[in-house]
Amino acid sequence: MTTPAARLAMDAKEIMRFLVRAYPGRVALSASFGGGGLVLAHILSGIDADAPVLFLDTGYHFPETIAFKNRFAQRYHLRVVDLATPVDATPAELYRTDPDRCCRVRKVEPMHRALEGFDVWITALRRDQSETRRAIAVMEHQVIDGRAILKVMPLANWSRHDVEEYLATHDVPLHPLLEMGYTSIGCWPCTRPTVEGEGERAGRWSGTNKTECGLHSANA
Ligand code: SF4
Repeated sequence: MTTPAARLAMDAKEIMRFLVRAYPGRVALSASFGGGGLVLAHILSGIDADAPVLFLDTGYHFPETIAFKNRFAQRYHLRVVDLATPVDATPAELYRTDPDRCCRVRKVEPMHRALEGFDVWITALRRDQSETRRAIAVMEHQVIDGRAILKVMPLANWSRHDVEEYLATHDVPLHPLLEMGYTSIGCWPCTRPTVEGEGERAGRWSGTNKTECGLHSANA
């Protein structure tokens, strides 16, 4: 009998297989290698390991993230493309004074530039991650710099538990900071561990009103 978790995994795999076939060379996955992105990167490695996995190299990642990303890519033969922030793009410690601008320069703009070469953008957003993500669909059109792109979220209906179960079932390695209480892992200046009872993304930009970097604001 097919379990609900197995059904979710089959659905996500079918969606990604369809996209890779329907848009040859035009599909990109973005991943930060912290949670759901590992599920999608693992699935992609079994379909088309040549499809790019876009990683925003903001310059502020935990060293553990960079090391884990490299090990993961090597293990699954993934083609990870590091999207680096232009040198001297922002004043030092802009994350303190203007985090929205910091995210725009280090995340949103590099991702938008990279996506110019693709028609489909796959991400690991889930509805249960936060209030701002409650209404996301599995597929949406997003207009980026005047060009429509198909944004696909195969895990939209997944729970955090579903992600954990998939990773355990398939023996996929986990980001080392997860066991230190980091339930959502971004740049070190803007990420703290969470405590029991807090939301998954409560440790991001903690103490401020900011909840999203801007990459997914159209969904929010
Ligand atoms: S998460 Fe923080 S450090 Fe990273 S780009 Fe955004 S404001 Fe800057």
